[in-house]
Amino acid sequence: MPFIQDADIVVRELDQFFSQSISGSEPVINQERLEVIINELDLATYVRSGGLTDRKLAAFLKKYLSYSTRLHHSHYFGHQCAAPHYSGALASLVDGFINNPMAVYEMGPAAASVEYFVVNWMLEKVGWQPSSTNPYAENNRENSTGAGVLVNGGSLANLLALLVARRKIQPDVWQSGSNSDLAVMVSSESHYSIEKSAGIMGIGKNSVYQLAVDERGAILPDQLENTLNQLVVDGKKPMILVANACSTALGIYDSLEPIAEFCQTHNIWFHVDAAHGAGALLSEKHRDKLRGVVQADSIIWDAHKMLQTPSLCAALLVKERAFLDTAMHHDASYLFHDKEQPGFDFMPRTIECTKSALGTKFFFVLAALGESGLSHYVDQQCELAQQAYQYIEEQPDLNCPVCPESNILCFRPEVDDATVLSIRDSLLKERSFHLTSTVFNGKRYLRMVFMSPNSSLDDVRRLVERVRVLLTVE
Ligand SMILES: *Cc1c(COP(=O)(O)O)cnc(C)c1O
Repeated sequence: MPFIQDADIVVRELDQFFSQSISGSEPVINQERLEVIINELDLATYVRSGGLTDRKLAAFLKKYLSYSTRLHHSHYFGHQCAAPHYSGALASLVDGFINNPMAVYEMGPAAASVEYFVVNWMLEKVGWQPSSTNPYAENNRENSTGAGVLVNGGSLANLLALLVARRKIQPDVWQSGSNSDLAVMVSSESHYSIEKSAGIMGIGKNSVYQLAVDERGAILPDQLENTLNQLVVDGKKPMILVANACSTALGIYDSLEPIAEFCQTHNIWFHVDAAHGAGALLSEKHRDKLRGVVQADSIIWDAHKMLQTPSLCAALLVKERAFLDTAMHHDASYLFHDKEQPGFDFMPRTIECTKSALGTKFFFVLAALGESGLSHYVDQQCELAQQAYQYIEEQPDLNCPVCPESNILCFRPEVDDATVLSIRDSLLKERSFHLTSTVFNGKRYLRMVFMSPNSSLDDVRRLVERVRVLLTVE
């Protein structure tokens, strides 16, 4: 069967890609111009004549991989995307092959059961009560256990969180449409998907209230009252308050405990955007950064960021199941129409209809490494950020805006913003390092995210040397 032969070719090429990435024998990034890549890959010929198999497949894949960004490379400090464990990739293959759209139980009982299980595992890590493994039991109808769903990315998970919060404050929303006085309270350091979600829901930018932050970009809990007063003066009602754990740009955790207390006092839905930082829940050492999360109402958590899982696999978790199950319908009776159902349909909880086995990708990684393996990874990447911070702070010509709290570290040489940007461009162009940049408190910084388990302080030293060389040429 050509499947086995072709799969063997693919696996061998991937193995070589991985070895090259680890050894650094090939560059971390290779950005040719788009039309060059289309030509080099000979795309049009394959569409005309087919035949992408055997030796042609090997040749094609070699080229394809040569123009692919290497997240396992020790010089990869780029976007917050997991350098995945290979087990997760194998799960992607399994899922791609069987193609079970598991949001309806009968279309993927194994995948749906695995998703149900890993969602419960995540709920437990947050400190919430997991859902019953008999979801249709009579006493579960109105129960107050936690619940969750895996969706295609943190941005979509944030949108869902806002929908759930709106359902709570305006129970008839599905029937009547959105009230015009609803407002969102959000850290000024929040991910742009929050504002985008509000926009999608018809909550205009004027109703998105930015919360005051300190010099590290963390919400100032004692300023929350001011924002709330302003919002009330404007004739609005707070639908949700969103905090970061951690922030995207700098990786700083908000103080969840006092924020949760404020939300409880004022009966505001408290959502924690922990797309990147919830991995800390697995670590003895870093868990405390999310202290207070148990008092939140919802959280998002991307496995395709700090949990070494291939994209995408993002969880929306809520403390009280009922709000999630009714967010996109005004009652949940249709959920319980058939008590004889052997399993659980995730469909009513999702925006997607057809949905792949996101939980299986994460489960394969979790099961390969065990909880302790993932916890070790989180510790190691955060430790590297600390070491890199200390090293950079020792350099007279460089400085960091904050001491890192996760695996994200920003720094800048004492030059103007345009030069900072051009250094990043040069590094990518010469293919030596992959990193991003961000603006914080009005200044542009180079931004490193330590995703590859293969990076070490030596790689940071090499980056610093390279930045200095480029500065002398600028
Ligand atoms: C990455 C990130 C998101 C968006 O998640 P995607 O999976 O990329 O859609 C949202 N919030 C925070 C804090 C993030 O770091």
